Amino acid sequence: MADARSYDVVVIGAGPGGYVAAVRASQLGLKTAIVERDKALGGTCLLRGCIPTKFLLQAASLHDEFNAMGHYGLKAQGLEVDWKTTLLEKTKTVRRLTSAVKGLMKKGSVDVVEGTGRLDGPGTIHVALNAGGEETLHAKHVLLATGSVPKMLPFLTRDGKRVITSDEALELPEIPESLIVVGSGAVGSEFASIYRSFGSRVTLIEALPRLIPGEDADLSDELAKAFQKRGIETRVGVKLEGAEVTESGVSVTLAGAEGKPETLSAAILLVAVGRGPVTEGLGLETTGIRPGPGGFIPVNEFMQTAEPSVYAIGDVVPTPGLAHLASKEGILAMEHMAGRPVRPIRYETVPNAIYCEPEVASVGYTEETARAKGYEVRVGKFPFSHSSKAMITGHQHGLVKIVSEAKYDEVLGVHIIGPKATELIAEAVVGMTLETTTQELFRAIHPHPTLSEAVMEAAENLHGESIHI
Ligand SMILES: Cc1cc2nc3c(=O)[nH]c(=O)nc-3n(C[C@H](O)[C@H](O)[C@H](O)COP(=O)(O)OP(=O)(O)OC[C@H]3O[C@@H](n4cnc5c(N)ncnc54)[C@H](O)[C@@H]3O)c2cc1C
Repeated sequence: MADARSYDVVVIGAGPGGYVAAVRASQLGLKTAIVERDKALGGTCLLRGCIPTKFLLQAASLHDEFNAMGHYGLKAQGLEVDWKTTLLEKTKTVRRLTSAVKGLMKKGSVDVVEGTGRLDGPGTIHVALNAGGEETLHAKHVLLATGSVPKMLPFLTRDGKRVITSDEALELPEIPESLIVVGSGAVGSEFASIYRSFGSRVTLIEALPRLIPGEDADLSDELAKAFQKRGIETRVGVKLEGAEVTESGVSVTLAGAEGKPETLSAAILLVAVGRGPVTEGLGLETTGIRPGPGGFIPVNEFMQTAEPSVYAIGDVVPTPGLAHLASKEGILAMEHMAGRPVRPIRYETVPNAIYCEPEVASVGYTEETARAKGYEVRVGKFPFSHSSKAMITGHQHGLVKIVSEAKYDEVLGVHIIGPKATELIAEAVVGMTLETTTQELFRAIHPHPTLSEAVMEAAENLHGESIHI
């Protein structure tokens, strides 16, 4: 048997946290290996998350745009959905990106070990190889980037056909006639949006009193109105209590606010109630690391676990489950390991994005959070109904909302629902990273006509100086 290979760092998990960290490690001159058990590199994000959902959302958006072409005097007939091809092209896009990640590993001389990694103390990793057999790796440092998997409600059984998670929702053999989605976070809202565009009858159920409960309440209200207009039935403050698979689909029991049970039926029940960290079988018990609440691995501000040579990042730690955050945490961990001067992540400047129609994006405190934190809060808003560019694009639903504090005028949060919200939020992220004020936001001259003017006008509105409202 060959001697165990030794590395400066071994990364376990090749999602957007792990593979980006591995690239950064190689840039920093660290001898690096990455262990991945899936058939391809890229993790949830590339294989079952960000990329395939956004491909389907793009197809859904083109479908909606086609139906709106008459507004521009464009006549087209005979739009047909060839769902098999849609799925095939989605898969091709995913493959192109996963092979690009493979290329990055090669370019950075990162050894890819295909198998399941398990710690045996903080510096030894046994890998059960996908091809059979086992390999042992030694490492000065380890980065745990094992990600997450969908959660299931305890009284439901995921059969993959009638009761499904986001994993199966990406591979449905046909567009379902009807769909009940449980959970109105990013994943639930995106799938509700996709399948509604393709003609499914969609009911979106949320246990909390409003849709996208993590976002500012104004965005929830706007999304509820927009979804209703699109024909998505939304039910908030309602709990799913049971589900029964029938011959034609699934029948679910709901308990409403008054406690009156109700039954709904649909072809498919999509459960989108969050994700849980992957730590099972990782050998944490052979180290000083103990999972914390929710099973997440506790870390300090440099992503170090209770074992200082073992770091953890991404969906397996108790920070928001976002690909871009996983990547930045990975870079931070590697730079800290390499002894570089680093600054902890300012989590209040991490953007959220939901790519449903209309899009939702935010950064920083909601109005409610800012008030709860004791700030003297000022709020500015600008509706897309008053934006010339929004009018041109035919997407006038939604608004930009800016929350600032009165004393220094610093921007505390920016909340957008409407066209290209997920692109527009980047301006706010840069601004908040530079601790900008709302005055600076609106003194910066924005190009006309653009959707970005709505951000400027919301900042103007905060001072009672908006030109177009
Ligand atoms: C439907 C959906 C849509 C999403 N859309 C977005 C979006 O648009 N934008 C966004 O920012 N986020 C999105 N997310 C969230 C995003 O996918 C995750 O936050 C991100 O993938 C987390 O990255 P990670 O590297 O921590 O973990 P993961 O991407 O989950 O990768 C972990 C990897 O570790 C591997 N692994 C686990 N255990 C072992 C082991 N013992 N040995 C070897 N390998 C192991 C897994 O196979 C996996 O490949 C979406 C998620 C879903 C489900």
